[in-house]
Amino acid sequence: MTSFAFPPPAQSTVPVAGSDVVFPVRRILCVGRNYAAHRREMGGDDRDPPFFFAKPADAVTLGDKVPYPVATHDLHHEIELVVALKSGGANIAVEDALAHVFGYAVGVDLTRRDLQAAAKAKGQPWDAAKGFDASAPITAIVPAGQARPDGEISLSVNGQVRQSGQVADMIWTIPEIIAEASKLWTLAAGDLIFTGTPEGVGAIGRGDRVEGSVEGVGRLAFTLV
Ligand code: MN
Repeated sequence: MTSFAFPPPAQSTVPVAGSDVVFPVRRILCVGRNYAAHRREMGGDDRDPPFFFAKPADAVTLGDKVPYPVATHDLHHEIELVVALKSGGANIAVEDALAHVFGYAVGVDLTRRDLQAAAKAKGQPWDAAKGFDASAPITAIVPAGQARPDGEISLSVNGQVRQSGQVADMIWTIPEIIAEASKLWTLAAGDLIFTGTPEGVGAIGRGDRVEGSVEGVGRLAFTLV
């Protein structure tokens, strides 16, 4: 029998709201530029479709304190609705997509914007800008039958509203995101998909209190330390 060369890393998990079970995270996909006004604020062309990037599964972080990451002087908040999958597959049809949803959460796609700008300028990948340690603060996952993610999505910093939009303004809808992702990857139970952010992204620093919400899903709050 084969044995591990060293103890395998702990499974990354997210609590399931109202339950003792946890959701095992397999991987994290993220949608870029899925709200038209944010696409414009990032300098995007209105004809460019949304696209995907990824974070490692262990980027999720829960709790009241989030560490300010190394190697940046321009950390940005991006409030996002997160879709959690209970099953998957390849080439999922739009009309079948919601059957794969386990539930929904509220997340923040933390971004080292200075590293992202440097990567964009050189045509380099975004991993260092997006996929760093603790780059995915997230709430407990609300089971699909108890969530209605179709209202306001917003984020405030120290009580001041920075981002406010409507989930209905997403360019790719939730079923379309799942269908599009499944054209590129075989999706599976445990996958999380961050679905993009509305306009108003901006910098946050140590000591800032970040509070976000998605109507019909929940609220997220943390202090950067
Ligand atoms: Mn994002």
